[in-house]
Amino acid sequence: ASRFDGIAMAPPDPILGVSEAFKADTSELKLNLGVGAYRTEELQPYVLNVVKKVENLMLERGENKEYLPIEGLAAFNKVTAELLFGADNPVIKEQKVATVQGLSGTGSLRLAAALIERYFPEAKVLISSPTWGNHKNIFNDARVPWSEYRYYDPKTVGLDFEGMIADIKAAPEGSFVLLHGCAHNPTGIDPIPEQWEKIADLIQEKNHIPFFDVAYQGFASGSLDADAASVRLFAARGMELFVAQSYSKNLGLYSERIGAMNVVCTSAGAAARVKSQLKRIARPMYSNPPIHGARIVANVVGDPALFNEWKAEMEMMAGRIKNVRQKLYDSLCAKDKSGKDWSFILEQIGMFSFTGLNQTQSENMTNKWHVYMTKDGRISLAGLSLAKCEYLADAIIDSFH
Ligand code: PLP
Repeated sequence: ASRFDGIAMAPPDPILGVSEAFKADTSELKLNLGVGAYRTEELQPYVLNVVKKVENLMLERGENKEYLPIEGLAAFNKVTAELLFGADNPVIKEQKVATVQGLSGTGSLRLAAALIERYFPEAKVLISSPTWGNHKNIFNDARVPWSEYRYYDPKTVGLDFEGMIADIKAAPEGSFVLLHGCAHNPTGIDPIPEQWEKIADLIQEKNHIPFFDVAYQGFASGSLDADAASVRLFAARGMELFVAQSYSKNLGLYSERIGAMNVVCTSAGAAARVKSQLKRIARPMYSNPPIHGARIVANVVGDPALFNEWKAEMEMMAGRIKNVRQKLYDSLCAKDKSGKDWSFILEQIGMFSFTGLNQTQSENMTNKWHVYMTKDGRISLAGLSLAKCEYLADAIIDSFH
C-alpha cells in the first residue's frame, strides 16, 4: 500500500493533452491544431531572428545570473508598461501603474487572482463563456469565485453582445470583469470599438473593475498599438484596472515564462501600495522571476533598430496566419455544396478560429482525419500551412455532415 493511494489520477489537460495524443499518432496526414503556438509554413517551431540576435548580444556581454528583485527586472517592467499603455500615457507619467514581472501570462493572472482573494474577499470574477480553459483553473486554485457572462452566439458564430451586456449588468456591483484585450481565445471574436465603449460605460456604471488578459498584443492585427486599443480606451477614462501580459506568442518566448501584471490605480500612492502587496504574494510563491526572457524583451524594445525588426517579424507572423485563414475560407467555399455561410472565419481574428464544430464532430476530425484540436471546435491557424488548407477543408465539411 502507498500513502498516496488516496490520490486519484488527474485528467489530462484539455489543451496540452491534445499535443500528447498528436505525438502518439503515426499517420503522415496528422495535423496539430490544438495548442496555440506559431509554426512556419513548414509547420516547424519558430525562434524570432531578433531574439537570436539579442541572445547573442547578451552572451557577448557576459551578464551575470544574480537573483532579480521580487518585482523583476526594472528595465523590463518599464518597457512592458510602456508597450501596453503607450510611453506618453498619463497613467505612466503620473506613476499610477503598479507593474511586476510575472511568470508569463498564466503566472501574472495567478498573482492577480491571489490579490483579489486577499483584498476583495466579497468580489467575484466574471469570465466570458467560453474562455481560455486555464482561466477557471486559475481562479479555482486561488479560491476566487467566478461566474460566466454570455459571449459567443452559436447561431451567428459571432458575439452575443446583448447577452454579454445583460450579464455584466446583472452581476453584483464591484465585480471583476475578465476581458480579452484582443484576439479572444477560443473564439477569435472581438467587440468592435463602439461595443468596447458601451462595455466601458457599463463597467463604470456598475463600479466593476476591468481585468484585461493581453496574451496577443501585436499578434492579432500585426500592430502593437492597434491591439492595445481596448486597454487604452479604458485607461483613458481614468478607470482603475488590471492587465496581465504575456510574451509567449508575440515574441515566441513560450518556455521563457515572461510576462507582467499591471494594476492601474487612481494615485501613485495606491500604485506603490498595490505593488508592495503583489511582491508580498510573489515572495513565498516563487521568490523572484527568471531573468532571461526579461532581458530579451528589455533589449529588443530598448533598441530602436531591434524594436523595428521585432515589429516586422510580428507582422510577418500575423500575415501568415491571415493568409491561411483566407485560404481555408476559399477552400471551404469552393468545396462545400451545402450553401453554408463560412464568412465567420474571415471575421475572426488572431491565432484561432472557432469552427462551430461540436464535440462529436471535433472527435470525427481527430479520429477519421488525424486533425488534432480541442473538443470545443477551436482550431489554431498558427499550426496550419497553406499546403494543408484543402485537406482541412475536406475534414471540416465531412465532419459537419
Ligand atoms: N491568456 C490567454 C487568453 C491565452 O490564450 C494564453 C495562452 O494561450 C495565456 C493567457 C497565457 O499564456 P502564457 O502563460 O504562456 O503567457
